[in-house]
Amino acid sequence: MSTLELVLAVAVAALAWALVRQLRERAKLRRWVSQSRLPDAPEAEGAWGDVFNLLQRHRRANLGSHRRLARLIVRSRRAAQALPYGVSVLDAKMRLDWCNRAAREHLALDPERDRGESIANFVRQPEFAAYLEAGDFAQLLRLRTAGGQTLSLQLVAYDEDAWLLLTQDVTGVERVEAMRRDFVANVSHELRTPLTVLSGFLETIQDLKLDAQRVRDYVTLMRPQAERMRRLIEDLLTLSTLEHAPPPPEARVAVRPLLERIRAEAEVLSAGRHRIALEIAGAQDLSGAESEIASAFANLVSNAVRYTPDGGAIRIAWRASPEGAEFSVEDSGIGIEPEHIPRLTERFYRVDRGRSRDTGGTGLGLAIVKHALSRHEATLAVESTPGKGSIFRVRFPAARVLAATQMVPG
Ligand code: ADP
Repeated sequence: MSTLELVLAVAVAALAWALVRQLRERAKLRRWVSQSRLPDAPEAEGAWGDVFNLLQRHRRANLGSHRRLARLIVRSRRAAQALPYGVSVLDAKMRLDWCNRAAREHLALDPERDRGESIANFVRQPEFAAYLEAGDFAQLLRLRTAGGQTLSLQLVAYDEDAWLLLTQDVTGVERVEAMRRDFVANVSHELRTPLTVLSGFLETIQDLKLDAQRVRDYVTLMRPQAERMRRLIEDLLTLSTLEHAPPPPEARVAVRPLLERIRAEAEVLSAGRHRIALEIAGAQDLSGAESEIASAFANLVSNAVRYTPDGGAIRIAWRASPEGAEFSVEDSGIGIEPEHIPRLTERFYRVDRGRSRDTGGTGLGLAIVKHALSRHEATLAVESTPGKGSIFRVRFPAARVLAATQMVPG
């Protein structure tokens, strides 16, 4: 072999060796890059080492922002899931793309099954079609669902080609609104009647030249109407105070003298038309607000007098019970049909409006009783037989009952 051939052979061998090394490093690179997790860069020779280091840094930075992005998406989804509002993401053609848990319940959607379906297939009420048609999405729309819920809906454009449909269950809100409307209507009605009578008398007195005796007669007729309005306003104020007052104080309420006073008041109201008995067994006092307990007991006793025909009997009792103590008022009065009993404590609920009014009722007495008692963790139970009489029982828990001699700390 000549010298030239030898040099050439060595050069070819060196080139082949260099090529093999390059191919090996390239294979190493491919293996490393194709791993989804990010192990440390393998050892590499020469310029390959720099390439691996550079790529390593790049991949680390990339993986970091990837993870941050993934975390952000998961958190946003979780936040959207936790919202008390239903959120449905719709495309430009109002087709479902995604929805959260609340929307699933509100609109009976299944995000997997219903994806790509038009939202109009799920909200089928004609009002919704009209809402889409009108295109005034600044307004909220209220809809009744087949399940009897009331939903509030609003469409919000959040991108050029995407919509959010927000839904909220406002069944409770609507119930409260209806109660408030009924209450205002009831109060207005209750006040309007005596007010109309009063203004009628006033006009007559003003327009006609009446002698002094006639004027006095008219004033006598006007007084009960004014009294009725005063009682109504007083009861409304009592109710409102009970609703908003802080919890009652833990003060001792001496029950015996309280009941003796209430019985004396009942005798005045009855004016000898009933036999009224008071039975006190044991010596329990109560802990709470005396004015509230007195108001609850007095309302029950005055109802017994007002709904018991002349000659009837009323028994007021206070005694220890297995749970604590029980106050009861039993009458031999007109009684109450069973269907009315669950509603008696509703404001302005009366079985017989005429009788209630004629005996000076406002329709708020038992609502006051219920509130005052619940503030003392006491319960009201009613048993009644129409035509025979009723018994109203108030049960206090042991925690509210004090031995009559025991002193309340503080
Ligand atoms: P009212 O001012 O009309 O008496 P309440 O809230 O005290 O209002 O009572 C509600 C209704 O419950 C009464 O209108 C009456 O129909 C019925 N009621 C209450 N107590 C008795 C009773 N002891 N006997 C028969 N009915 C009663």
